[in-house]
Amino acid sequence: MQTKIFLDENEMPKKWYNIQADLLTPLDPPLNPSTGEPIRPEDLSAIFPMELIKQEVTQKKWVPIPEEVLDVYKLWRPTPLYRAYRLEKALKTPAKIYYNWEGVSPPGSHKPNTAVAQAYYNMKEGIERISTETGAGQWGSALAFATSIFGLKCTVYMVRASYEQKPYRRIMMETWGAECFPSPTDRTEAGKMIRKKFPNTTGSLGIAISEAVEDAAKYENTNYSLGSVLNHVLLHQTIQGLECKKQFEIIDEYPDVIYGCVGGGSNFSGVFLPFMGDKLRGEHPDLQVVSCEPTACPTLTKGLYTYDFGDTAMLTPLLKMHTLGHDFIPPPIHAGGLRYHGDAPILCKLTKEGYMDAVAYHQNEVFKAAITFARTEGFLIAPETAHCVKATIDEALRCKETGEEKTILFANSGHGHFDLAAYDAYHEGKLVDYEYPAELIEKSLKALKNKT
Ligand SMILES: *Cc1c(COP(=O)(O)O)cnc(C)c1O
Repeated sequence: MQTKIFLDENEMPKKWYNIQADLLTPLDPPLNPSTGEPIRPEDLSAIFPMELIKQEVTQKKWVPIPEEVLDVYKLWRPTPLYRAYRLEKALKTPAKIYYNWEGVSPPGSHKPNTAVAQAYYNMKEGIERISTETGAGQWGSALAFATSIFGLKCTVYMVRASYEQKPYRRIMMETWGAECFPSPTDRTEAGKMIRKKFPNTTGSLGIAISEAVEDAAKYENTNYSLGSVLNHVLLHQTIQGLECKKQFEIIDEYPDVIYGCVGGGSNFSGVFLPFMGDKLRGEHPDLQVVSCEPTACPTLTKGLYTYDFGDTAMLTPLLKMHTLGHDFIPPPIHAGGLRYHGDAPILCKLTKEGYMDAVAYHQNEVFKAAITFARTEGFLIAPETAHCVKATIDEALRCKETGEEKTILFANSGHGHFDLAAYDAYHEGKLVDYEYPAELIEKSLKALKNKT
């Protein structure tokens, strides 16, 4: 009984996989909001390095991973693929449950897979500082780690709700040398505007993005970095799924269903895209892929598939995606990384076209699943990740009913060592299950329809 399937360092994939080469129809391009025309590379060069702009639109199937990036990846990659024998046994399921474990990275999640690549390309192009936003703090800490490796400065706008709930992530960022501010701040016009309108706001990822973009656009030596949603971020994350495929080959397995939690869609896409390529090419037509999101921010299950801004201040290009409206501010649930109003255009297109599905869960059922996982497999996972563990457990129990021996893979995106207050709230029975705020979502979608 092999619990972990390991790859050797020299078996680590040397190229990222680009799903754009396998899509049957091309992605709808990002639009310039002022002209309604597709965005041009020049429009983005004020805040992104050229290499990442190229990766955003490339149609090449494989993009080589720079040697320097591979060297940093080796601090924690290749990551193990686990067989969750103990969880299976506790559930008495005939299903086989696997997960890839990204909690072994220095910041404790999948996020450095792209942070390291982004910091590297910015450094190569002479940039001295990177600004960014962070929700629960995982992205900020991943970028703080990555910039420290390549000698860049880092400014992080952290959603106020999380800044106050989760001081340890801020301390981590500061340990890696970054500066971190609770957003909305008074440092940017976007921040000042929101604070005037909503003095008591707990912030949102959309607001924090506005602040970070404005900061980067203002200074020549500063670029902006996004931890999810964009094509190049998903591209970097495919190192996960590529490793998983090799690991499944070693044990002569292939997943029937893949679950992942979706905030902006990067960790899950990183895992499922290499498998989705097989499905699109007709090699594994029956593969099921399911996104798991919170009912408090039900982007894929309740949102509209349309062009919308990536941020609240309407500074970013328009992206074709499922959205709850750029001014939608979700309730302050503990899975801070899943509180984004939109999702990655690639993942949304695949969802819209029926290649994959989505489900939404409440906080309490999600934490219940996380605790089942902790008491069987041992790891205390992030509240975000717990969403797909809930889906996995439900499916494994369904298999118990039907006797199906399904092979399940879920994306175990990170640990929850800085989310213990949320576990505590669950233990104490204090977690609120936010009812799907239908009126708020409708209001925000109506406003969006009027604008676009
Ligand atoms: C940030 C984060 C997420 C959500 O972001 P995605 O871009 O959807 O991956 C999920 N899990 C963990 C552990 C995270 O840090």
